[in-house]
Amino acid sequence: MKEDEKKQNNKNKNIYLIIATIVLILIAAGLTIYFVTSSNKNENQEIAYTDLIKEINNGNVESIEMTVGSTSVKVKLKNETEEKTGIIPSTQAFIELIQNKVEEGNEIHLEQKKQNAFLTIFENLFTLLPTILLVILFIMLFKLQGLGDKGKVYDAETTKSKITFNDVAGLDEEKQEMIEIVDFLKNPDRFYEMGAKIPRGVLLCGKPGTGKTLIAKAIAGEANVPFISMSGSEFIEMFAGLGASRVRKLFEKAKKIAPCIVFIDEIDAIGSRRTSSSGAESENNQTLNQLLVEMDGFDTEETIIVLAATNRPEMLDKALLRPGRFDRQINIALPDLNGREAILKIHAEGKKFAKDINLRSIAEDTAGYTGAELANILNEAAIIATINKHKAITNKDIEDANKKVTIGLEKHSRIVSDKDKKLTAYHEAGHAIVSSQLETQKDIKEVSIIPRGVAGGYTMYKTNEDKYYVSKTEMEEKLISLLGGRAAEKIALNDISTGASNDIEVATQIAKDMIIKYGMSDSLGPIYIDTEKDPYELQMLGEKFGDAIGAEVKIMLDDAYSKAQKLIKNNMDKLDKVAMRLMEKEIISAEEFQELIK
Ligand code: ADP
Ligand code: ZN
Repeated sequence: MKEDEKKQNNKNKNIYLIIATIVLILIAAGLTIYFVTSSNKNENQEIAYTDLIKEINNGNVESIEMTVGSTSVKVKLKNETEEKTGIIPSTQAFIELIQNKVEEGNEIHLEQKKQNAFLTIFENLFTLLPTILLVILFIMLFKLQGLGDKGKVYDAETTKSKITFNDVAGLDEEKQEMIEIVDFLKNPDRFYEMGAKIPRGVLLCGKPGTGKTLIAKAIAGEANVPFISMSGSEFIEMFAGLGASRVRKLFEKAKKIAPCIVFIDEIDAIGSRRTSSSGAESENNQTLNQLLVEMDGFDTEETIIVLAATNRPEMLDKALLRPGRFDRQINIALPDLNGREAILKIHAEGKKFAKDINLRSIAEDTAGYTGAELANILNEAAIIATINKHKAITNKDIEDANKKVTIGLEKHSRIVSDKDKKLTAYHEAGHAIVSSQLETQKDIKEVSIIPRGVAGGYTMYKTNEDKYYVSKTEMEEKLISLLGGRAAEKIALNDISTGASNDIEVATQIAKDMIIKYGMSDSLGPIYIDTEKDPYELQMLGEKFGDAIGAEVKIMLDDAYSKAQKLIKNNMDKLDKVAMRLMEKEIISAEEFQELIK
């Protein structure tokens, strides 16, 4: 107990030290700005920050115009016709200050403008240079005291979202639930009068890039309420004791500006199961406990809805999911064909396209892509079109963008020796030939040995079908085509390389999933074991069971590998042809490939 108290005291001391330093920095910044602005007095249009605050306090300010991302503001005083410009140390703190003043009954008109040019950035950089230097100096001082890398203080971001449901494509059913939440936020009294309880927390579950943040912002935008966001991982990095206090502050802030949306991204970072162990984990527990306290502690009058995003809801501590906490879940799936087309339409807006571009056919080619990837492809295509001086975005630009986003950038500069080239050619030809002999794998789109990203080459498949179920046959054949690269190296070149490492990794994962996720193994039967959710589950089932799974994985992989080798041996002439052509041209289209293996 004593030890703990001491620790807590130390923590508090550290916090005071940091607060003191921050105050110092602010004073220094204020002084610098004062000097910078007063040295420019010849224009006589500027107002020092300290004066600005004075004028605000005296109620002399009529309106303030801010530019997003800039600390330069335009101030109009009540008794003057000319506008003055001033520099503020922090836009967020400033907005809060104004908001407080307005709440107190002061009439200040605050206008926020979008940034218009690089110019402003440079302007700010130069005027703030001394301040930046000072801040750097202080950071260095921190480091010297050994507080440096843990002393980062994050602040929740508060914004007014301009995003609406029109910016969210697809997700029609999910939108229905979102509309309900917007209703709560807009007319809470109607619900209270009826005796209904407003939902406190809504969990948005889905893969990264499926639009969870977008949805949270759209709900805030539609309801026209502020949006406070923070990421779970930001709580974790905080140094001892701060995680919980940040959660408290986040909600304090939310209560002040309610009705509002609080968005916690990556909630699994703080909300995963509590453990009894000490150290970093108990720190984590404190943060989670604080979150639970806050969720329970809302007054009925406060209309705050907490949206939290995660890709792994099953990892979350059950306490988080109890009634009154995150008792609603919205699952956000990958977009289907219509969804993808709708997402592409939204992100195509404002972009110039060649006449023969067909968004529907792009949507058909991108099964399994997230909304973020689709948005990314169109943006990359616009960049590629600009670089290539095209009049508009062409189909080829989109193809290139697709590869850049999914596989990585072409690396023409990487020097590839003839020996490597031959190895890659046989490896990729191996995938392609083996796949061409398998009913579920034969839709090949392109084979290439041009290095991209980390891959030395790639075999692309057509993905023009939305699949809700994958059959056992398809998974087995996938294993065979994954091992086709290694098989070709072995048989054609009588040696094997590290190039197959990723294939083998993916194949092993698929085999494991087939056995313990989908119950597809003959010997183990229908069974589901989630080792990620509960690492002890396997232990519980007994050592023998673990051994049996291992043995089954090995059997499946060995079987697939020997089938791949057999297919290679039976098609050696085709393999040579495709490998030769690859060495010569580096890339083979679907049509060319079909021609070669006829
Ligand atoms: P998440 O929070 O799930 O990781 P985001 O909301 O950050 O995903 O999505 C990233 C970007 O992807 C969005 O800003 C948007 O441009 C695009 N996007 C994702 N889903 C959609 C969608 N359904 N409609 C329109 N754009 C989308
Ligand atoms: Zn491979």
